[in-house]
Amino acid sequence: MELFKLDRRQFTKILILISASLYSGKVFSMTDKDWKEKLRPEEYYVLRKEGTERPNSSVLNNEKREGNYLCVGCDSKIFTSKMKFDSGTGWPSFYDYIPGSLEFKTDFKIVIPRKEYHCSECGGHHGHVFTDGPEPTGLRYCNNGIVLKFIAKV
Ligand SMILES: [Zn+2]
Repeated sequence: MELFKLDRRQFTKILILISASLYSGKVFSMTDKDWKEKLRPEEYYVLRKEGTERPNSSVLNNEKREGNYLCVGCDSKIFTSKMKFDSGTGWPSFYDYIPGSLEFKTDFKIVIPRKEYHCSECGGHHGHVFTDGPEPTGLRYCNNGIVLKFIAKV
């Protein structure tokens, strides 16, 4: 069939494209440019530039349904609705996270050291953890709602 007749050069090119796209399936190999294309500007600002959304700006503040909260960068599961509580801070708050989904580092952005956390899968910034949370952990994971994707349980 004429339609599928490719010369050797075209064929090699297609092979390279296919293997490149398979290889880049790993999210953490994405470049800054890739992230800019994938995310909306406000998501990019928080996730990749460690920005903070305005308080009370997230619709997830009032989300009370049962379900899971995923990283907007890579879809990995970070929180469940059971871990969420109303902190009154204006940011979606959780007292715990799904084991292995987050990594931590200390940041000095506001002089006082804060514990920053990010997605262990794609490295995207999510928020800060404070020690004024409820039992059983006593911790408050103060998360930017814009970088969470809520999937309600059906
Ligand atoms: Zn992620």
